[in-house]
Amino acid sequence: MWIRVAGISELEKKALEIIETKEGGVLQSDLWKMLGLDSREGSRLVLRLVKKGLVKREQVSVNGRRTYKLTPAKMAAEPVTVKINIASILDIPCTTCPQISECGPKNFYDPATCPLLEAWIARKLRGDRKVIRRPARI
Ligand code: SF4
Repeated sequence: MWIRVAGISELEKKALEIIETKEGGVLQSDLWKMLGLDSREGSRLVLRLVKKGLVKREQVSVNGRRTYKLTPAKMAAEPVTVKINIASILDIPCTTCPQISECGPKNFYDPATCPLLEAWIARKLRGDRKVIRRPARI
């Protein structure tokens, strides 16, 4: 199972596509060349992907030079099912919020900084977290 994270940049998506399609992985420096990046930009890109858990970086030696091989980071081998119940979001504060028409990213009212929404999410994380593993196939 491959996990995709929302909010990754177009460049990160492109890099991931390259890494996933190259069997056996891709050398870090080759990835930079394919993307037209210099080593500084390339290193930062790779570190972001590693930090997000999307790419695995392994040190290798090529022609006596140390470099890194990049491979997709495999997540749990077993499929995981997360139970989602519509009732669990019916009490979200946004449904009754008088500011909803003015609320949006980078607005005065912004879901990213809203204390009501943050408190609601914190409550949900404390009480509603249920992960159910799908039974193995027979
Ligand atoms: S994020 Fe906050 S301000 Fe925006 S609609 Fe929801 S409760 Fe209202």
